Amino acid sequence: MKEDGVIVEPVSAALAVRVLLVEDSAPDAELLIDELSRDGLIFEWRLVDDEPAYRNALMEFRPDIVISDISMPNFCGYRALELLRERSTRIPFIFVSGTIDEDTAIEALRSGATDYVLKSNYGRFASGVRRALKEAEQGFSRDRTEEQLLRSQRYESLALIAGGISHDLRNILQPLLFASSLITKPGADLPRVAKMVEDCSRRGLEMITSMLDFARAEDRPRERIQLVALFAAIDMLLIGSVPRNVVVDMERVADDISINGNFTELQQCLLNLCLNALQAMPNGGCLQVRAENVTLDAAFFDPEELVMAGNYLKISVTDTGVGISPELQKSLFKPFFTTKSTGTGLGLLSCRRIVENHQGCLRIASVVGQGTTFSLYLRASTEVAGKS
Ligand code: ADP
Ligand code: MG
Repeated sequence: MKEDGVIVEPVSAALAVRVLLVEDSAPDAELLIDELSRDGLIFEWRLVDDEPAYRNALMEFRPDIVISDISMPNFCGYRALELLRERSTRIPFIFVSGTIDEDTAIEALRSGATDYVLKSNYGRFASGVRRALKEAEQGFSRDRTEEQLLRSQRYESLALIAGGISHDLRNILQPLLFASSLITKPGADLPRVAKMVEDCSRRGLEMITSMLDFARAEDRPRERIQLVALFAAIDMLLIGSVPRNVVVDMERVADDISINGNFTELQQCLLNLCLNALQAMPNGGCLQVRAENVTLDAAFFDPEELVMAGNYLKISVTDTGVGISPELQKSLFKPFFTTKSTGTGLGLLSCRRIVENHQGCLRIASVVGQGTTFSLYLRASTEVAGKS
């Protein structure tokens, strides 16, 4: 049997579904291919049965779906699943096996498989593939919509802080104008002027860089984020937007507190909460940002939340503002819900999405007339940081 092929139909190849088969038995693979074509699926396929060929196919063939045997002489189905899930959680993966007992089936699904089918039950196979592809398509389109929501909401926050940042930049650039006149003065303290020029330029550069990084938000994957760096970035973005009558008290966190996550998303989330807090204090007050490690047990979670007891990093944003009534609290996360004349009502919705993307949850405590605390709980990774 050939190693790969196309079930030819007069349609553009772009429409053909790319099916990656992981199977050591050629007759079995042929049966699967027959089933799929009989079902009317238009597809290209590639057949592999060891890890190097599989890895290569993931990169080059870029399958829309993977269909894999569980045990093969040169490869293991679970390993194939693991390698796929490192790249994508959306691409469907179906186990096909000669024998599969209930425990193995449950184990397969728990490891992130989309479905499993017995070789003796090929009738179910094609419908399983069709369903998996349809669900994946819905998932991908949800991802795209979400990405667009987060991006446009980020621009909205940038618009909010732009005024403050330009004001601050002017304060930084102004002294540079005086520098030239200072230098030419007889007996000028040149080292001091040089230091001033350096400080101002560096600060200006830092501000512009942090704003551009935030706006561009290159699609950085999950990475180890130092909380110190995250807080510093928020501080930098907020700086020009804090009214005179508000005190910002951001915790100086230890260097070794870190978390696995997406830097831009977490920055966006905290910035939203801080901007909301500032807006909630028209008569001034205090904005406090705190972080601590906490352990949560199952009782902490709401019934509709995925319960994952364990260690979390808790970040809380507290204001001494107007507070939120229990009635309003019910609507906070509805799209477009706002009580502000120029609000868009997408800030908290974005925050919640971001927190969910980090396997975390969000809690609110508020007293009308006294203030509000939003707490984020982000799952601490099991990975041990550099220091212990
Ligand atoms: P927007 O800021 O555009 O109104 P958000 O989703 O960020 O949208 O917030 C929705 C609403 O939640 C706000 O309009 C406000 O009524 C309320 N809110 C959010 N944060 C606070 C806070 N810290 N204090 C009081 N009210 C808040
Ligand atoms: Mg907001």
